[in-house]
Amino acid sequence: MSTKQEKRVAEYAAMFRVKPGSKVKLGRDFDPAFKADVVRKKDGAELLRRGIALLADYQDRLAAQDTYGLLVCLQALDAGGKDGTIRHVMSGVNPQGVAVHSFKVPSAEELDHDFLWRYARRLPERGQITIFNRSHYEEVVVVRVHPENLDRQKLPSENKGPGIWARRYREINDWERYLTDNGFRIVKIFLNLSKEEQRTRFLKRLDLPDKNWKFSSHDLAERERWNDYQEAFSEMLTHTSTRWAPWYVIPADRKWFARLAAAVVLVHELMDIDPHYPTVSAAQRKDLAKVRKTLLAQAPKGAAADPFEEKLARERRKAKKRGDAHENGLVVAAVDGKAGAS
Ligand code: AMP
Ligand code: MG
Repeated sequence: MSTKQEKRVAEYAAMFRVKPGSKVKLGRDFDPAFKADVVRKKDGAELLRRGIALLADYQDRLAAQDTYGLLVCLQALDAGGKDGTIRHVMSGVNPQGVAVHSFKVPSAEELDHDFLWRYARRLPERGQITIFNRSHYEEVVVVRVHPENLDRQKLPSENKGPGIWARRYREINDWERYLTDNGFRIVKIFLNLSKEEQRTRFLKRLDLPDKNWKFSSHDLAERERWNDYQEAFSEMLTHTSTRWAPWYVIPADRKWFARLAAAVVLVHELMDIDPHYPTVSAAQRKDLAKVRKTLLAQAPKGAAADPFEEKLARERRKAKKRGDAHENGLVVAAVDGKAGAS
């Protein structure tokens, strides 16, 4: 990426970031219909395509470097677009390097542990990107809006007093700091949907038979608690956007814009990690040269000593003959494994 592009990505990401220590009130501070200066959907699609290509390239390097892991936490209200965002934004990356985990109502086994246990078990490995479709933030949102969830968590009575939410924010912040200190970066995305757009999307689920399965009457009951959720999310954003793991509030009323913004935020984090392919030391290069010599000596009668080198040379000659310097560049890049790199 050019420095100019990098600057642009950084500027975009900054627009959505919740400043650590700031007090957030969702309705007042963030507009779900905002679409920056990307006016047309058509331009958005082209930008998303580029973002997806960048993500694929970064993910490849992240895996090769095997030092950092990336955790993406996605939170939203029902019909906020979490599933579609994951499907589109990650469409270009190697499935071997990505994991997605969804968190539902906790099981009996999960309730038998501390509240972060089930999330800790799903963290990324080094070199991996893991997406949490809902995350440990449910523990300070749905559990706060419906305190009966907390009753089921079997906490000792002396540990569930009124200070519990402040304590959970602190515990979450500490845990995330521990993770980032150990090479696991965290990106937290809140898809910010308006009440009217949610109504429209629910109706779509009712009107289209193929979408009926996505609707549950439970969603309507949760919609009745709209204000409580807005409040719980605002508190969450206020208390858990930190220097080491900031929140990004992404306008979600336009799906295409939300996907683009999510891609930008991820690219920005990976840009910051700046993963590199491992380089080979002089000693390793010497070893490789020895192995190469052995393999060359094993060429059967009549075969080229190095068929790969031969093929490469042939392709170079062909390209040159066509006078097609551009293609030559592409072939060489492809053979070197650099095609598609920015
Ligand atoms: P869905 O993602 O539509 O399949 O719904 C999953 C449901 O599980 C949502 O209603 C969440 O609010 C709920 N859920 C997720 N995590 C928790 C939790 N820790 N405690 C209680 N409910 C949860
Ligand atoms: Mg649902």
